[in-house]
Amino acid sequence: MDSNNMAKNNKHKRGFATDAIHVGSEPNLKDGGSGDVVVPIHLSTTFARSKLKEPTGGYAYSRSGNPTRAALEKNLAVLENGTAAFAYSSGLAAITNVALLLKSGDHVLCIDDVYGGTRRIFTRAFEKFGVEFTFAEFINAKDAQKFIKKNTKMIWIETPTNPLMKIVDIASVSKSAKDNGILTVVDNTFCTPYFQKPLDLGADIVVHSMTKYLSGHSDVTAGSIIVKDSKLAEKIGFFQNAAGCILSPFDSYSVLRGIKTLELRMQKHDKNTMDVVEFLSKHKKVKKVYHPTIPTHPGHEVAIKQASGFGGTFSFELVGDLDSAIKFMESLRLIYIAESLGDQVTLINHPATMTHADVPPDERKKIGIADTLLRLSIGIEDAEDLIGDLSQALDKI
Ligand SMILES: *Cc1c(COP(=O)(O)O)cnc(C)c1O
Repeated sequence: MDSNNMAKNNKHKRGFATDAIHVGSEPNLKDGGSGDVVVPIHLSTTFARSKLKEPTGGYAYSRSGNPTRAALEKNLAVLENGTAAFAYSSGLAAITNVALLLKSGDHVLCIDDVYGGTRRIFTRAFEKFGVEFTFAEFINAKDAQKFIKKNTKMIWIETPTNPLMKIVDIASVSKSAKDNGILTVVDNTFCTPYFQKPLDLGADIVVHSMTKYLSGHSDVTAGSIIVKDSKLAEKIGFFQNAAGCILSPFDSYSVLRGIKTLELRMQKHDKNTMDVVEFLSKHKKVKKVYHPTIPTHPGHEVAIKQASGFGGTFSFELVGDLDSAIKFMESLRLIYIAESLGDQVTLINHPATMTHADVPPDERKKIGIADTLLRLSIGIEDAEDLIGDLSQALDKI
């Protein structure tokens, strides 16, 4: 999509790229400051103090707070238009920390094709502690209302979802949730704050797998939580320290480095994806393309209202059967068959045998995950080369 759309969504005082590059990385130019223009990696696990009751610089022990992690957290809070952010050792560590806000007897409404790992920690761990989950398809508050119970405390959204790119109206769901004292959580991994800002749309909590676009180079596993409300920030900060699955200083540095080029990368992911979507949509061996910019997509109107672009992840269905899908994938030369998304390299995933292999075949069919469904994560290479690779592999089936 046109990146100029960003201007309308962008409520930053400065430009998004300026904040992405500067916030948290301001050089220390005071007497004795070294003036680094990138954040130093503070490896110290503990911090000495000159006065017993006042830790020098505010740091005491690295699990509770570390200057490199704090720099990243400051940056994330600004990019999502929040007031506080928390960095974790993976996306799932962040998700687990949000779930620690719940207690026995609470009910959570969760979008049905939520990330597999999110469903797993909810059903295999938190259900055991007496938290109840409903997984359902809903696009707005009216749909969601059907699944709300007296004890519903949280609504969990991903938009777009994975792999079918379903869309949820964040503003509509958050508003009615707020009226009923329910927290709305949005996993914003796919769009990133460059394209979509859930807190501005009324959500209470944003989570990210920073393993994906925010770090962006297939070399960091990381997660984060961003909030606006100070009471919520206090509770989450408590659990970040209490549970301890914090992001290391080195990985904090790496994510911060990735974020400096987030705008450029997201623009290229989006542009490349539009070119590939156009190519695939016209190809006779492609049955269907799932992307929210396609006018026949059921979430199209909502999608373009709440996000100014969608990055590089989408899916499509081939004609033929499982064997055609395997032949096609194994014929690719430039595009790698691999899990994950949001990387510099283009990756292809076969949900039926990879990310969604745990979902029973009947259930997969019901959700719409066919044996010939493939998910692409378009990287930032040259679009012509990606199209060339897809084209030669399509010719093989
Ligand atoms: C990858 C992913 C996660 C999990 O993050 P990890 O960093 O792998 O723990 C959660 N949500 C979404 C949407 C993801 O793509």
